[in-house]
Amino acid sequence: MRMTTPDIAPPNALLQRLASLGNTITRVTSGGPNPLGIHVDKLLGPVESLIDGRHTLMFGTNSYLGLNFHPDCKNAAIEATRQFGTGSTASRVASGNHLAHENLERQIADLYGRPDAVVFSTGFMANLGVISALAREGDAILLDSHCHASIFDACKLSGAKVVTFRHNDAADLDAQFAASGVPSSRTLVVVEGLYSVWGDLADLPPIVESCKRHGALLLVDEAHAMGVYGANARGVAELQGVEDDVDVIVGTFSKSVGVIGGFCVTNNPALKALRFMARSYLYTASLPPPVVAAASAALNLIKNDPGLRERLWNNARRFNEGLREIGLDLCAEAGPIGGVRMRDTRHGLAFWHTLLNSGIYVNIMVPPSTPEGQVILRFSVSAAHTPDQIETALGIFRQTAGMLAAA
Ligand code: PMP
Repeated sequence: MRMTTPDIAPPNALLQRLASLGNTITRVTSGGPNPLGIHVDKLLGPVESLIDGRHTLMFGTNSYLGLNFHPDCKNAAIEATRQFGTGSTASRVASGNHLAHENLERQIADLYGRPDAVVFSTGFMANLGVISALAREGDAILLDSHCHASIFDACKLSGAKVVTFRHNDAADLDAQFAASGVPSSRTLVVVEGLYSVWGDLADLPPIVESCKRHGALLLVDEAHAMGVYGANARGVAELQGVEDDVDVIVGTFSKSVGVIGGFCVTNNPALKALRFMARSYLYTASLPPPVVAAASAALNLIKNDPGLRERLWNNARRFNEGLREIGLDLCAEAGPIGGVRMRDTRHGLAFWHTLLNSGIYVNIMVPPSTPEGQVILRFSVSAAHTPDQIETALGIFRQTAGMLAAA
């Protein structure tokens, strides 16, 4: 029998859903630049760029130490490209395992004083791989409600029962152990060291205490904190003196390290098997040689140049203090990340547009990227900002706040 195709195909619900999301974005962003579609014409350095032809100071990157433009890192990447080419072209378990990958893993393991480390192609993949390798159907994952999307996606992928607890609230974590209905010996708890939108720190000691009491595993994602917090720049677990009680640490090379890539470390010998359970490790191409070389150079700088962190912290403290003097509603204490709470989306967008038109780039975060329906202007501070640039940005924030208050 001949099949006939109808002249007019019925509307496709999947495409309709996307189209309706597109319309919402167009409506919300009409009348100004689209925060989701900024065109950076040219990067001029770690914290300066040309956006639509205008010189712009970047306060919305995660280049906390400015290492993406450090001569050591650039030269290492150039030299590795000359010697080893531009890409690995395969997964580590196929033909993409290079000596440089193993050396980078040694460097990370040494930084954390752990026996072993696994390097992934991104931080997102590190979370996907590690969390889905640790937990599965019949297990439970308790996670802080402010955790990053990669952690939520990893939890879904694992098939485990997923329960969120109130942000940074160890008492609620305690309550959720019972509520999950899964034995705590089959439970993984996931938190971040430094939260990426508000810029606040996890309060790890009571969380560690609760995990120990219940016999649950604890994973801390130090994506934004590595390179910045702790005496050896290992992150918030080091700063708060609880490293020995954290079972797994995950991190990324895309922030303070200035390239791309992810990693995990643990004291547990089971990590050796984890490498072969993590599908985002097994089935994707490994990091390209220039990235591995630049990451390695950056880790050397983080270890040997404390001046980088000193400059970052001076800038972070001054910026935080200046914004408070203006009367802005900040989400957290001084640090590399800060969030300014806005009253609503219109006000937030107007503030964001005005800053951008005046040559300051920050991020604007709206739900679902922000927790609990908030609109946040998220900024990040870098060791690469000069004190003059910090003052210039504060002046523009002051003008903008004054102008919008009068409008
Ligand atoms: N974890 C956290 C807490 C993050 O904020 C991010 C990215 N912003 C990631 C993981 C993913 O890192 P990457 O960009 O290296 O994929």
